[in-house]
Amino acid sequence: MDALLTVTGLTKRFSSAGPPVIDRLTFAVQRGEIFALLGPSGCGKTTSLRLMAGFERADDGHIVLDGRVLSGPHTHVPPERRGMGLVFQDYALFPHLSVLDNVTFGLRGHTKNEQREKAARALRLVGLQGFEARTPHELSGGQQQRVAIARSLAPSPRLLLLDEPFSNLDALLRQNTRSEIRGVLKQEGITSVLVTHDQEEALSFADRVAVMRHGQIEQVGTPEEVYYQPRTLFVAQFLGRTNLLFSQAQGTEADTPLGRVHLSRDARGPVLLSLRPEHVTLDAAEAYPDRPHASVIAREFKGHDITFRVEMDGSEYLVHTHNRMDFQPGDRVALCPLEPAVVLESQQPPAAPLSGVTSAEAAAS
Ligand code: ATP
Repeated sequence: MDALLTVTGLTKRFSSAGPPVIDRLTFAVQRGEIFALLGPSGCGKTTSLRLMAGFERADDGHIVLDGRVLSGPHTHVPPERRGMGLVFQDYALFPHLSVLDNVTFGLRGHTKNEQREKAARALRLVGLQGFEARTPHELSGGQQQRVAIARSLAPSPRLLLLDEPFSNLDALLRQNTRSEIRGVLKQEGITSVLVTHDQEEALSFADRVAVMRHGQIEQVGTPEEVYYQPRTLFVAQFLGRTNLLFSQAQGTEADTPLGRVHLSRDARGPVLLSLRPEHVTLDAAEAYPDRPHASVIAREFKGHDITFRVEMDGSEYLVHTHNRMDFQPGDRVALCPLEPAVVLESQQPPAAPLSGVTSAEAAAS
């Protein structure tokens, strides 16, 4: 693999008391890759980005871009000489300048002709040709953000840093803008680092996602890897809702409150398992006389699918099914796993019985 950016042992403290805000952060971003740093508020995402951009000085560690040390024990290359483009949540456009002048602003040092050519190309890439003469207040939020992205892309940066770039857009516009911008970055092969606290944004935008906690990376992988194969309880909970099962593993299977389930890997003894709501389905209790039975306590029809809440032995579980599942509150059901349960690395056994549903909100708290 050919890494463009390598970050090694990066450490930053704002005060001498307590643990560092960024704690030996280590990762590599391949050429042309979109890499996301995903984590809850306060885990150090923006600080990491500011260290990469050169707005903060690291206390320790290295940042190397294309073989050039930008940050090291005796090196701190200033932001304007790092060759990086930056896109922020609040667009940061000059309100009194036209779209064209906003985009050419980052191209000082080029001839007028070059500026015009590069700006026109960047605006074409983000679908804003014809908008050159407008000022930012004559544009929608999505268009303003695309101008900001065009401005960052115009000087052909080696690396694009994106800090929660879509969070000011409303839901539908956010989805459309992010899929268009992803298309542009992939088409142009622009290596990018996105920081976000939004799981869906990271999973849908990035080629790989690093899940951050307390200034460190807890797991890095493709969106599918981190979602389907979380290593830890924190990652399982932060990436979406999940059912947790504390049980005894016997090799490739375990006895759980839901009955016997297959495991994602061999394990023995007490284990903590994660089973996503869409990896379980419901069937009539009579069809499974040998499995433990549950009661449906709520049914939420959402058009494209249904979320059921079921109760078994005092614990609640979540099940997402297709939209034709007809069970109603009060029905007796069996829970049938569709996928192996994921064995989590639990650093310590949970203090309280941990079976039941948990959510991203719980992980973030
Ligand atoms: P959010 O998603 O809320 O923006 P984040 O993951 O980006 O959070 P950071 O902004 O990097 O988190 O902050 C990480 C920690 O460092 C927080 O506890 C924050 O209070 C602290 N911090 C950030 N900047 C400074 C600063 N200049 N001085 C002191 N502490 C800071």
